[in-house]
Amino acid sequence: MRPFAMNLSHDAAGAVRAASSGKSAFLAGGTTLVDLMKLDVMRPEVVVDINSLQARFGGIEATPQGLRLGALARMADVADHPAVRRDYPVVAESLQLAASAQLRNMASLGGNLLQRTRCSYFRDTSYEACNKRSPGSGCAALGGVNRIHAVLGTTDQCISAYPGDFAQAMVALDGHVETLGPAGARAIPLSRLHAQRADAPHIETTLLPGELITALVIPAGAFTRRSTYVKVRDRQSYAFAIASAAVALDLAADGTVREARIGLGAIHYAPYRATAAEAVLKGKLLDESSARAAADAALQGAVTHGHNDYKPELARRTLMRALLQAKDMRI
Ligand code: SF4
Repeated sequence: MRPFAMNLSHDAAGAVRAASSGKSAFLAGGTTLVDLMKLDVMRPEVVVDINSLQARFGGIEATPQGLRLGALARMADVADHPAVRRDYPVVAESLQLAASAQLRNMASLGGNLLQRTRCSYFRDTSYEACNKRSPGSGCAALGGVNRIHAVLGTTDQCISAYPGDFAQAMVALDGHVETLGPAGARAIPLSRLHAQRADAPHIETTLLPGELITALVIPAGAFTRRSTYVKVRDRQSYAFAIASAAVALDLAADGTVREARIGLGAIHYAPYRATAAEAVLKGKLLDESSARAAADAALQGAVTHGHNDYKPELARRTLMRALLQAKDMRI
């Protein structure tokens, strides 16, 4: 690990100021940052420890308007919260199925949203070609082992997939983050937080230098109770998704879909809102056939790269399972 300066900030404005100058990174749970610093992938010159802001940015509030989650709330605490489990099961399940119990006890929600890709070539500096780690160097995954890589939203510069779980629930439920930056506070819809420019895969979010996520907001909706998260992975625990689906449904008494919300994971460089699939379902009875049509719409245009040829069909089946599971929920 390279030497770095440590800044212990006791107020948010000070933390933003400290992170705005030079190459810096915020430290909360440290479950991504410390790993990547040890691997020499992230090389901040200043690490700004924001854990002392826990009292201000660590709350969990459930109101009739929705959920307001402090960015420093720990994953385990949110997953276990009774109101979250009852009214937003897709949120609780996406957090519960992520990582290990130890990591969920440490990791913050804000940090969880900003996880970096699990592409092996990104995480292993002995490979030179990685446009995300070293702009302009190429992409080793294109001709290499790309089993876990994306099938939607890829470019000839980078085919990495977003690895998280919780963000799929956030994007499906129209969540947004609140931030504090050098220019003040603002709100960013989750659907616009992750951004990968075709010519600049190293730029992964729309956050500005020094901009700190302070809260995550999920509005209430008629569909949040009938919601679930299905995660497919290589082993039952402590593994990243190879396909996942966050689904929320508002059904009429006869089973017709009034509204469907769908977020897909592990197939795109960002948490992926499958609006085409949502449109297919609206006004239809939800059954195997309509679920299949929605899944086909969601994966339309998928491009594979050899080892990940299995992914589009796995993602379709994952979405179908989530839809039918949500339909059968007793609420
Ligand atoms: Fe790097 Fe992206 Fe290529 Fe992986 S897929 S090697 S992260 S450029």
